Amino acid sequence: MAGVPVPVPLDRDAVCELDAADPLAGVRERFVLPLDLIYLDGNSLGALPAAVPAHLYDVVHREWGKDLIRSWNSNGWWEAPLRVGAKLAPIIGAHSNEVVVCDSTSVNIFKLAIAGMRLRPDRRVILAEGGTFPTDHYMLASVAELLGVELRIVPTADLYAAITDEVALVSLTNVDYRTGAIHNLEAVTQLAHDVGAVILWDLAHSAGVLPMNLHDAGADLAVGCGYKFLNGGPGAPAFCYVHEALQDQISQPLPGWLGHVRPFDFEPSFDVAPGMARLLTGTSPILSLLALDAALDAFGDVSMQQVREKSMALTELTLRLVDERVGDSGFGVVSPLDPQLRGSQVSLSHPHAFAITQALIARGVIGDFRTPDILRLGFAPMYVRYVDVWDAVTELDEVMQTKEYLLDRHQARATVT
Ligand SMILES: *Cc1c(COP(=O)(O)O)cnc(C)c1O
Repeated sequence: MAGVPVPVPLDRDAVCELDAADPLAGVRERFVLPLDLIYLDGNSLGALPAAVPAHLYDVVHREWGKDLIRSWNSNGWWEAPLRVGAKLAPIIGAHSNEVVVCDSTSVNIFKLAIAGMRLRPDRRVILAEGGTFPTDHYMLASVAELLGVELRIVPTADLYAAITDEVALVSLTNVDYRTGAIHNLEAVTQLAHDVGAVILWDLAHSAGVLPMNLHDAGADLAVGCGYKFLNGGPGAPAFCYVHEALQDQISQPLPGWLGHVRPFDFEPSFDVAPGMARLLTGTSPILSLLALDAALDAFGDVSMQQVREKSMALTELTLRLVDERVGDSGFGVVSPLDPQLRGSQVSLSHPHAFAITQALIARGVIGDFRTPDILRLGFAPMYVRYVDVWDAVTELDEVMQTKEYLLDRHQARATVT
């Protein structure tokens, strides 16, 4: 087991000892968590950082309510997309001038995929991997259609061999949303560069939980999500990263007035701003952006290496307890067994996965279901404890023993699963 040695045999007291020795234990206090819940869904919607409500109260009552339009200058609203980007940068190993916060991940994929294709006008292939998050594919398909190029989607097993000198842009998710499998960011960036391709990383399931070194790895382009492991709140704006060596060559397809070098000159023609401001299109959702701003303070002094070590230890513990306690209940392990290849989640397949997820939620253990048959448990190491893993598997064991997942009330599907 990576990071933390787990004693054998294991009981609840021994697991509590792991929490007592956890260097990140105190970080949990930076979050507001309901006492009666075990929250294993921080990969879909991060928990509420304790600093956010007071900050938003001030933003709404003072900055909006009293300072009104003056806040664009006096309260720094205008610079906020770049300022919050600079705050986020160290979490993903970027330089402070390489990140801007704006729009949604989907929209940013569109902007950066076109920008990436424009860097290789002589090539006609976008390469992506089958089975990953569909919004990325929808966007890439639209980009391919608009530019009249080919979107080549290959199975994971064939992916690395398909990175050839025909390819203009490789678009990949760093951690797969369903399985949790990791693509090595440094190594695959190098593969793309070896054949002269541009790489666009989607960091939705890795930003805030996996240490990474975007700049030093030479990664060209990346997008990521503000509301998952970065805890920015529902619908938090996403981010764009562009390596500083490329920024002045980048041209994105949604030029708006916020990406203009002199927006308040209201000129009839577009003159692109220097640096990352060129990725901006329109006015930011300031309330959401400033919630993310305050949320990022929770990362303050936290070492991403320690986060990763705890993440691997939490998922190892989960797999071990699942094996020991519900190993004969028909679960398959979908996530990689090697912790180095696994993001901060454990995905288990089961024919009744949907109803099992519902039965767990009814018992106060929140994970989620991903079609067709996956119970997905996400681990945000800044606030999930080892004892939460123990208690969650205890509840899962009871759900399986009692077969309560067969009850009618656990079959109904809501819009969001
Ligand atoms: C969560 C996620 C998204 C989300 O996109 P939005 O535009 O924010 O809704 C995109 N891509 C991946 C890989 C994701 O996991």
